Amino acid sequence: MRRVLVVNTYNFQNMGEVLQVEALANILRGDSVSLASWYSYVDTAICDGLGISVAGNTRPPGKIALLAKAATSLARLTLYQQTGIAKPSGILKAYDDCDFVVDLGGDTFSDNPSPVYTLAHCFALLPALMLGKPYTVCSQSIGPFKTPVTRALARYVLSNAQSITARDPITYNYLKDNLSIATDKVSLCKDLAFFTERTAVPEAGLVGLNPSPLAHRYMGLTPDEYVDFVATLVEKLQQTHRVILIPHVYGPRHGLGKVANQDDRQVIGEVAKRVHIEAGTHEDIARCSAFVGFRMHACINAMSRGIPTVALSYSQKSSGLPTANWVKTIDIREGTATGLADRISAAATDMVSLPSDDRDVNWMRRETECHTRAVAELRALTHTELLGEYRRCAVGHASNAKTRLKGASGGVATSLVKCALSAGTADSAVLMDQTTMPPRPVSVTETSQLERCTGSAYCIPEDALKTMTELASRPDCVVVGLPCQVAALRSRFPDNTYVGLFCSHRVKENGIRFLLRHYQLAEEAVQFRAKADGNTGLLHPQGFFIPLKMYWNRFLNYCFIPRGCTRCHDLTAEDADISIGDAWGLSGTSELGLNAIVCRTHRGEELLNAALERGEIEIRDVSPADIVRTQRNYLLLKKGRLNFKLRVYSLLRAVGMGASQHRLLHPILHFWLAIAVRGRRLQGQGSVEESRVAASS
Ligand SMILES: Cc1cc2nc3c(=O)[nH]c(=O)nc-3n(C[C@H](O)[C@H](O)[C@H](O)COP(=O)(O)OP(=O)(O)OC[C@H]3O[C@@H](n4cnc5c(N)ncnc54)[C@H](O)[C@@H]3O)c2cc1C
Ligand code: SF4
Repeated sequence: MRRVLVVNTYNFQNMGEVLQVEALANILRGDSVSLASWYSYVDTAICDGLGISVAGNTRPPGKIALLAKAATSLARLTLYQQTGIAKPSGILKAYDDCDFVVDLGGDTFSDNPSPVYTLAHCFALLPALMLGKPYTVCSQSIGPFKTPVTRALARYVLSNAQSITARDPITYNYLKDNLSIATDKVSLCKDLAFFTERTAVPEAGLVGLNPSPLAHRYMGLTPDEYVDFVATLVEKLQQTHRVILIPHVYGPRHGLGKVANQDDRQVIGEVAKRVHIEAGTHEDIARCSAFVGFRMHACINAMSRGIPTVALSYSQKSSGLPTANWVKTIDIREGTATGLADRISAAATDMVSLPSDDRDVNWMRRETECHTRAVAELRALTHTELLGEYRRCAVGHASNAKTRLKGASGGVATSLVKCALSAGTADSAVLMDQTTMPPRPVSVTETSQLERCTGSAYCIPEDALKTMTELASRPDCVVVGLPCQVAALRSRFPDNTYVGLFCSHRVKENGIRFLLRHYQLAEEAVQFRAKADGNTGLLHPQGFFIPLKMYWNRFLNYCFIPRGCTRCHDLTAEDADISIGDAWGLSGTSELGLNAIVCRTHRGEELLNAALERGEIEIRDVSPADIVRTQRNYLLLKKGRLNFKLRVYSLLRAVGMGASQHRLLHPILHFWLAIAVRGRRLQGQGSVEESRVAASS
């Protein structure tokens, strides 16, 4: 189950937007869907019915309040990104929690009727951009953007989208030719609202007519003249048919920006004062034998029920409507009002008498395929693309308290190796002996030798892979390795069992020596992830301890990183049978340690099950999204999906790597360590052990 956030749906009083939300809910069935509302009119009853939760307001706040909220939200997100404090809450939490975002703008993403629409639309996507959440811009008519600011902003937001589904050819061409958006991102298909499954119970000779208070502007009429026009049209239709006026938009009276998005019932009320006419609701579309609509989604509502439709078009969005003998589009911007009324009533009369057997509604539904595909790609992207193939995801730890405590995270890697050796499924294990400086690869055949290999070796000899290749050539071998080691060894020895470690990057040996020298410690073997005093950190045999949050987060995360690691795209050992990492931030994490586990192959599953049966480990299943959450930033970094924070990190890392390469700049690094990275001497080795025992109890 993915967590999906829908943004930019503006008006639940517009049945077109409701249709689109319903269609999207169909596509997202099985996922957990929330709707973020900064400035929207949301109907919570409709959302409840569709299983959608709402974050934010259900009515637009005033302009000043909205601007203040936007400014504080962006400031808060920036602070959160840079410092980790000011954790997102409310609507921002919905962005932070989701796996991906669907921008369902409902109507159009453009400076028409006002640039405010573009600004608001782009703003709702900014948190997704800042948090590195992938998004699709779904089923919209896009452009034109008339001012330099809105154009630049829209181009930025659109070019960062994972995909865009254009619902009309004008949009497709505008994106390609005018905004230069990569064509492989954009697909052209029918409006998402066709994806809803609707039925009709037509009454013979009943014609539905949907007027719109927006239409008069496109016909060059005043509002009163437009009402007269609709009344004339009704009278013409009534000569041969029964007519019902059908509203599609029920409000609000005033929309975002200067243009009112008015209630269709206003026009209907005025027309009813001039002619005797039945006024219905949007649900009465199902009763019609033919339908005439000014609102595009009202027409789609009729078409998706197989009702012959005359669509009255006044903008580019209607250019995406299907063409069929039972669908006719008339441009209301052409010709005189009288001529138009004649053409519309003639078209409607033709439609009423059409036979019903050749109306292929499923054909239209199939034409919406690209929306489903865009969502499927986002689903895959969030998990498979970030994590690689997986069969099962879990968190867990070694059952043996000592193994858990000694382990880099929760001791699962050591427990799996122990299981493989003691169950006889492996004759030897290739591990990293951590009692030397630097740690070195060894082959282990006895479980009693495992303890010296437990822990994470952040630095290894440059020829480690060569030694591992020799050791892994033995038959029936289980190998624990970093993603790059697993990939290299798997291609040589595919029959081995591979336990991969998550890996952001390793550290050059001279980096560790630099660190030890700074604290005037002998350059000997250290534990990089010792657990002491309820903390995890570097423990030197002389009893000197530096918390991981200090020496890694503030120093080795930037300095002494091998260049190859900055080009590496695999964080989670995607070629392994089973991959193990740290379950940062997931519930159950304690100072004793908890592992994230990604089981990828049948062989990996067998090993995991054997370890469970033998009581070596305890696990609980989690979703792949949970695993992604534990490593989101490093994953995005490795997959090249850089948000603002990761761009800053990459820059600082380049500076740190440059400084660590040049001895002349080393005094700056010493100065940084002196002010930012504090270690402390524990009260003798005995107390280190005591603190561990205390932590385990
Ligand atoms: C360089 C490096 C970077 C890492 N980056 C991340 C990260 O970004 N995110 C994350 O969640 N986890 C990361 N890890 C993995 C994490 O530190 C733990 O190794 C992992 O969670 C397994 O924990 P455990 O308690 O099950 O391991 P343990 O039970 O302690 O077993 C660890 C096993 O890994 C072997 N090993 C240790 N270091 C190496 C090495 N350099 N090469 C080959 N084998 C080795 C040991 O011999 C041992 O068998 C990294 C580890 C390393 C070495
Ligand atoms: S970041 Fe990649 S290349 Fe560097 S040690 Fe880790 S797996 Fe190997």
